[in-house]
Amino acid sequence: MDPMLPEPYLIEGVRQETYDTFTLELAAKNGPNGRPFAAGQFNMLYVFGIGEVPISISGDPARQPPLVHTIRAVGTVTKAMRQLQRGQVLGLRGPYGSAWPVVQAEGNDVVVVAGGIGLAPLRPAVYQLLANREKYGHIAILYGTRTPRDLLYEKELHEWRGRFDVQVEVTVDSAATDWRGHVGVVTTLFPKVRFDPPNTVALICGPEIMMRFTIQELQQRGVEAGNIYLTMERNMKCAVGFCGHCQFGPTFICKDGPVFAYDRIKSFFEKREV
Ligand SMILES: Cc1cc2nc3c(=O)[nH]c(=O)nc-3n(C[C@H](O)[C@H](O)[C@H](O)COP(=O)(O)OP(=O)(O)OC[C@H]3O[C@@H](n4cnc5c(N)ncnc54)[C@H](O)[C@@H]3O)c2cc1C
Repeated sequence: MDPMLPEPYLIEGVRQETYDTFTLELAAKNGPNGRPFAAGQFNMLYVFGIGEVPISISGDPARQPPLVHTIRAVGTVTKAMRQLQRGQVLGLRGPYGSAWPVVQAEGNDVVVVAGGIGLAPLRPAVYQLLANREKYGHIAILYGTRTPRDLLYEKELHEWRGRFDVQVEVTVDSAATDWRGHVGVVTTLFPKVRFDPPNTVALICGPEIMMRFTIQELQQRGVEAGNIYLTMERNMKCAVGFCGHCQFGPTFICKDGPVFAYDRIKSFFEKREV
């Protein structure tokens, strides 16, 4: 299969998640349905005549089709994508990139830390963790957004919270007086969470500033750099390591990432323009 050739995918469902974020459910128009992917991987989605963008897969790796993607409308392509409706077709190639270390984390406590749209790339890992719950120690999910209006997957967060075997903590940076939950950046949730630092694997996805402070918090508590995983985002074109658009230090985000162990990228993570 030509890795640069998008295949037609039918939009089977569109769901508005928040005022600027929506979820598309896709199924292959021709050929075999269902395409294995690992939690953390992404596809290149192509709006015909407009352009192509990398979008993480946000559905359950054990339950597809449909292939699920959650997208925030920020610019040319994603805003055009928001106009697409059920029954229309877009181009898709992938999956690409590295995965969350869900299997390697077995036997450990797991702390999942998401900021904003960052919960979308982490959701497949959460599904996998919960489907194999007995293989892990304590599981905590910490989720922060700017305001209550930005919270993704509220119904699911509620369901996860209703389980007795996973700790779910949600916070917003600011809220009106009708918000009864926690207020503060996501790191202010750490005092609520118990985990055993030497035996903890952390999965982080969100804005870089949020990831930086989360890493600091985890390291202060004794979690090793090699057990902290994060996803990096940069503009990309080919997604297969040819064009160099997403070069990040000596790595390419498209093929060496987007999920990296922190000890691998530590030396250039802090440099703004790498
Ligand atoms: C591996 C990978 C996985 C990704 N997964 C997802 C995902 O699951 N869901 C998702 O919504 N996005 C995801 N993104 C980001 C997504 O690819 C970009 O938002 C998209 O490429 C923007 O394209 P555009 O043409 O709509 O915007 P452009 O026209 O390129 O940008 C327009 C404006 O928006 C700003 N902008 C661009 N990207 C962002 C951003 N991410 N946040 C805020 N402002 C931005 C630009 O600075 C510019 O000012 C991922 C990116 C990578 C590299």
